[in-house]
Amino acid sequence: MAQPESGNHFEHTLDADEFRRVAYLAVDLAAEHLFGIRRRPVFEPMTPNERVELLQEPMPTDGIAPDAILEHLRTRVMPHPMGNGHPRFFGWVNSPPAMLAVATEIIAAAMNPSCAGGDHAAIYLERCAVRWLMELVGYPTDGSMGILVSGASMATLTAFAAARHRAAIRRGWSVRDDGLQSGHPPLVIYMSSEGHGCFRKAAELLGLGAASIRTIPVDDAFHIDVAALARAIAEDRAAARQPFCVAVSAGTVNTGAIDPLDEVADLCAREDIWMHVDGAYGAVGVLDPATAPRFRGLARADSLALDPHKWLSVPVECGCVFVREGATLRQAFSLVPPYLRTDEGKGFGGLPWYSEYGFQQTRGFRALKLWVTLANAGRGGIASIVSRHIRLARRLALILEAAPDFELLAPIELSIVCFRYVPDAIRDDEKKLNDLNQRLIENVQASGGAFVSGTTLRSRTALRACVLHYATSEDDIGALVEIVRRASVALAASIAS
Ligand SMILES: *Cc1c(COP(=O)(O)O)cnc(C)c1O
Repeated sequence: MAQPESGNHFEHTLDADEFRRVAYLAVDLAAEHLFGIRRRPVFEPMTPNERVELLQEPMPTDGIAPDAILEHLRTRVMPHPMGNGHPRFFGWVNSPPAMLAVATEIIAAAMNPSCAGGDHAAIYLERCAVRWLMELVGYPTDGSMGILVSGASMATLTAFAAARHRAAIRRGWSVRDDGLQSGHPPLVIYMSSEGHGCFRKAAELLGLGAASIRTIPVDDAFHIDVAALARAIAEDRAAARQPFCVAVSAGTVNTGAIDPLDEVADLCAREDIWMHVDGAYGAVGVLDPATAPRFRGLARADSLALDPHKWLSVPVECGCVFVREGATLRQAFSLVPPYLRTDEGKGFGGLPWYSEYGFQQTRGFRALKLWVTLANAGRGGIASIVSRHIRLARRLALILEAAPDFELLAPIELSIVCFRYVPDAIRDDEKKLNDLNQRLIENVQASGGAFVSGTTLRSRTALRACVLHYATSEDDIGALVEIVRRASVALAASIAS
């Protein structure tokens, strides 16, 4: 970075004209990024030198002027995005940012509230945006509580903590008072082998231990096997353990499989077990009329995780957890220090603090970008994007299915397509197919023309394409197929030689 003359320093203020000038420059940089995206490769690895430069930049003693800082961002930082802004990026579950939310983020930063609680607009905007989200996916609002968090990992941790709290209370003890080390029968949690890794992380962090986490097998379409789940619960009961939570998925991260939610809800109701649904990616799939029936039972979940920073394109980070019994969530987390205590009916108006419903105290104004995105698209706008993405995924699947040297590895339930290349020469050699497809993923990524990620399904290496960009078109799907095909042919030739 350009060093200032010795003795220069800047504090945290700018005068009004200078603020406007600098902010407009930043807007120009953002616009250049957003609108120049199609002209750049989808992804370009950084050179070792570029990495080292960013890693080892020393902290300046004297401050650096705004223009030099913006220049540094323009030349050193902005040329190396993750790739998810590009309409031919199909990796993982990473969407592009909704443009209006990008433009208004400066307002959230300028207002800079802490949404721990209090009586200011950000709090009410969060209540409103979360209610909209509940209504969007058909989750009951009355008595429910929702809170914005970093993402579905934190949403899951929050939901499991509430589930653990309720399970103990129902059996006459308090996990907050006793912890998990006081000799109560062990609490057991259930998830399928396709459940997201954050289930396990959250369960471990909550002290359940690997011995209390059951992994239930899935059927041919990657749905949790409900009969096996029921058997596992019965076995644990017979051994005097306490089944307390079943975590299922409304759109798994691997294939977009939607577990049989209604059946699981029946089982959980019979067994008095908390049902958590991971709808981080897929919950909004319910807005596609043809897909909606698969989501039956979603509204019966005791808790639901939904990531607006996935399919809704709210800029990262924006996750959300809904809990059907809002009061239980509060009991699990509420701890009000004297300096925050407000007496109801005294002082300003105000709702119970968000810090009583989750682990965080100081919380950012995530609600602004969420509210802006939902308001701008409306229910109709969101539904049309979701339906379009599902349609594009089906189209991709049809093209691949029709090709003799490609094979789909999972049914298409939402906007994820898992497939692999199976050239005749090695069709019966799973090991060679896995190696080949792993190299194929890497070659497609390195091509800069499109980006897919990979996964493993029943020991098979799969290319995985998730359609999540508002600007992805049929042409982009066609281009993806072309790029994969070209890379496949090149690889097949290299095997043959
Ligand atoms: C992304 C994702 C998660 C994890 O959420 P984060 O926002 O990354 O914390 C969990 N489940 C599914 C299905 C996801 O797509």
